[in-house]
Amino acid sequence: MTLPMTQPMRTETPVWRVLLGYVRPFRLALLGGGMISLVTSATGLALPLVVRALLGGLGSRHAITGLLVLMSLLVIANAALGAVGSYLLERTAESVVLRARRDLVTRLLHLRVAEVDRAEPGDLMSRVTADTTLLRSVTTQSLVSLVTSVITLVATVTLMALLDPLLLGVTVVVLGLSQVVVRLVVPRIARAAGQAQESVGVLGANLERALGALRTVKASGAEERERDRLDGAAQAAWRGGVRAAKWQAIAGNIGGLAIQLAFIVVLGLGGARVISGAIDVGTLVAFLLYLYYLIPPMRDLVNAFGEYQLGAVAVRRIREVTGLPAEPVGRLPARAPGERPAATVAFDDVRFRYRPELPEVHDGVTFTVPPRGMTAFVGPSGAGKTTVFALIERFYDADAGQVLVDGRAVDDWPLAELRDQIGYVEQDAPVLSGTLRENLIFGAPDTDDVELHDILRATRLDTMIDRLPDGVDTAVGHRGVTLSGGERQRVAIARALLRRPRLLLLDEVTSQLDAVNEAALRETIAEAATRTTVLVVAHRLSTVTMADRIVVMADGRVRAVGSHAELLAADTLYAELAATQFISNGA
Ligand code: ADP
Repeated sequence: MTLPMTQPMRTETPVWRVLLGYVRPFRLALLGGGMISLVTSATGLALPLVVRALLGGLGSRHAITGLLVLMSLLVIANAALGAVGSYLLERTAESVVLRARRDLVTRLLHLRVAEVDRAEPGDLMSRVTADTTLLRSVTTQSLVSLVTSVITLVATVTLMALLDPLLLGVTVVVLGLSQVVVRLVVPRIARAAGQAQESVGVLGANLERALGALRTVKASGAEERERDRLDGAAQAAWRGGVRAAKWQAIAGNIGGLAIQLAFIVVLGLGGARVISGAIDVGTLVAFLLYLYYLIPPMRDLVNAFGEYQLGAVAVRRIREVTGLPAEPVGRLPARAPGERPAATVAFDDVRFRYRPELPEVHDGVTFTVPPRGMTAFVGPSGAGKTTVFALIERFYDADAGQVLVDGRAVDDWPLAELRDQIGYVEQDAPVLSGTLRENLIFGAPDTDDVELHDILRATRLDTMIDRLPDGVDTAVGHRGVTLSGGERQRVAIARALLRRPRLLLLDEVTSQLDAVNEAALRETIAEAATRTTVLVVAHRLSTVTMADRIVVMADGRVRAVGSHAELLAADTLYAELAATQFISNGA
């Protein structure tokens, strides 16, 4: 699944530069690990020379003992350095992944709401969790082995040239042929890996879809169909992964195969040269050993190219997210202590549609709300009432006209500061997994226990909490599944009030409350309205009648503004709504 790219395509930074960018902060650790790896190879490389000397000095007992001790030391040094080097590299690799994940997470949380509307959360999650792990080896192991392999190859080849240039010539021809084949294989790794990662994204998206509505899935008897969807994505990921593994295996072993072939050729030709006296046996053995020493750097080089292809896939998928428009990250100035004055709100000929291809939701909305008091928005479903709140919070930007808070256009406000003025209770009163306390103080982390206690009493949550095993520290489950709908609404209202907002936006907040709780909450909200400006999307007549003013919306416009009595007399739609919808809703 590809994310929508709303930005014009810029000339893209090449993948290798992006990858180097990830590595840059860790270059010292990487350099250290790389150097140690190099020294490890060098100590290994010295071994054949020792073997050669050992074979040459077979006659004298003394020489052999010294050389055997030297060999043992080399072997031990090799193992110890190898361990330190690979630890350093792996550590750096993890740091690269951490950094990429942090960047992505920050970006995701600041994405504009309009972008999130169009993306699949599960797919976004897979980019943070799965794709970033692909960066692990390419930015460290492969990068280092690219450098160390080249150096090792050059050193080994130089030593081989010193031993016998003719045999080296033969070796190079055989190895060169293998590289042609490898170049054909490597792009296929990239394609297969890309498909695998896309499918992992689809799997995440489908999983989120099914688990996010598991009760509906079960009630609809759709488990098997959802399983088939998930299975399809999992199988597609399997196919891509297997195909990538196949090409990777082929590429990796072509190098090994080429060396074996070269070994046979060198053995034949070298044997003839020994017989003719051109070289001695020790030289041939040393040469053959060097040939085997070519295997690891050759294999590493091929793997590095394969890893690079995987890294390129990850970079592309990560870049699709980081390229999406995000909100500015702003710092919030410290709040002055004490009561904050109530805010004013005004819409001036606001026009808005969610997407260019969708119909207009606001078609010239104009109204003003003075500080303090309660303003109710009523109108048929789909009239654009909730959208009024979304524009005040600047989840979306109006296409034309102005949304003003305190007489200042919302786009002139620093975003964090604007939202700091507002307490918002969404229509479905979301509760996050965690404890009740975490949920309550979510918008005001500095809340003390006295404030918390007061708000619990005001929202009638105290008796419910008293019955819970861990009181306010009881976990509420995923999306607050252990709470009733009415309890979730009250938690959401308490959360909004604890922010001590200058402007309180309530969206159909009392729809799931019983009469007693509703009456209590109405009191709390009325009390809040004496200090703050309260805007409420109302569905109940009881809410509407306590409002200081009522804004009637229909077809993306404001039809009428007035008190209940005024509107009953003057507005037919309002009279109709009052007579039917509100009342049937239980007021
Ligand atoms: P109300 O609150 O009056 O019922 P809304 O403001 O929620 O109406 O929605 C107004 C219109 O905008 C509806 O037709 C709805 O389908 C559409 N709409 C709401 N949210 C979105 C969205 N995120 N993307 C696209 N269209 C949306």
